[in-house]
Amino acid sequence: MTDHPHHPLSCRQLTEHSSAFLEGTLGDEIWGSFKDHLERCPPCAEYVRQMGMTVELVRRLPGDRGTCARAELVDRFRKWRSGGG
Ligand SMILES: [Zn+2]
Repeated sequence: MTDHPHHPLSCRQLTEHSSAFLEGTLGDEIWGSFKDHLERCPPCAEYVRQMGMTVELVRRLPGDRGTCARAELVDRFRKWRSGGG
């Protein structure tokens, strides 16, 4: 899937990469598309911003709970996007 290196991410693809973005493990090849999407898609930009703040809070929780809370957050976001919100 390297035909179009600058092919824009869909909102769903962005959500799939958002956790890597927040963990600082986003690949260089996707970084440009990710940033470009955030600049053109206010809902996604706002989501990533809020998710980033939430991840910071979650990190302060004990390990197990933190992991669960983050998985739940990602799941919630996927439902939000698929619901057309
Ligand atoms: Zn978007």
